[in-house]
Amino acid sequence: MAINFKGGCLCGAVRYECDTDPLFMGNCHCLDCQKASGSGYDACIGVPAAALKVHGAVKYHDMKANSGNILSRGFCSECGSRLFAKTSAMPDLGMITAGTLDDPTQYKPTMNIFASRAQPWDHMDPALPKFPEMPPMA
Ligand SMILES: [Zn+2]
Ligand SMILES: [Zn+2]
Repeated sequence: MAINFKGGCLCGAVRYECDTDPLFMGNCHCLDCQKASGSGYDACIGVPAAALKVHGAVKYHDMKANSGNILSRGFCSECGSRLFAKTSAMPDLGMITAGTLDDPTQYKPTMNIFASRAQPWDHMDPALPKFPEMPPMA
C-alpha cells in the first residue's frame, strides 16, 4: 500500500503531496547539507519526481555538488523553508525534507550517508548503516 506523504512550508504558501512509496529515506551529513539546512544533516526522502505534486511558489537555488552534478534546493519563496531538492544526475528523482511533512513520524531513515563529514555533536542512530560518502549504487 502506498504511503501518502503530505506537507508544506512553515508559512503554508507551499503545499505538496506524494501518493507513492518512497524510493529511499536517509540522513545526509555532507557539508553542503549542513550549510543548506543550518543543522547537522539533511533528513531526505526520495520519491519519483512525477509523483510529487507541488502547490505554491518554490524558489530553487542551484549548487554544483562535489560529484560535479547540479543539486537544486527548493525553498518557499515567502518564508524560506527548505522543502525539496533535485539533482541533475537523476532527473526522475524528487527529494523532500522530512521535517516539512505534516506527519514527520512517517520518516524512517534507513542509512546515514557522508557520515565521514558528520560533526562530533551530530548523534547518529548506531543501528543504522553508515556510509562514509555515497552508498554503493545497487
Ligand atoms: Zn512558506
Ligand atoms: Zn548532503
